[in-house]
Amino acid sequence: MIRLTDTALAGIRADSEQGVAPGMGDVQLMVNEIARLKADNEKLQMFGNEMLGCVFEGGALDGGDIAIIGARCGVLTVRDVEAPCGEVCACDEYGFPGECYRKADVMRGSQHG
Ligand SMILES: [Zn+2]
Repeated sequence: MIRLTDTALAGIRADSEQGVAPGMGDVQLMVNEIARLKADNEKLQMFGNEMLGCVFEGGALDGGDIAIIGARCGVLTVRDVEAPCGEVCACDEYGFPGECYRKADVMRGSQHG
């Protein structure tokens, strides 16, 4: 799926300010972007609500708890690894085979691909 970039959005905004209607390609980009933003919002809201559950229900969360919740909510991705992933990552602290947790696209900002 082709994403709506900041440059494309600025162009659509400039056109609209001059009374120029967006073309079908622009409309499709905007529809795709709205769908992505809604899906991202649902993941972030689910994660936030699970974190706040600790406030209302008591208890404490450690990094492992947060990683499990993050993966369940889609804000972290988990992949099986047989060796250190070679990047700045804590997966090598837990032995192999193991799991490597990474930020999902939703946590990487507006220009993720
Ligand atoms: Zn790793």
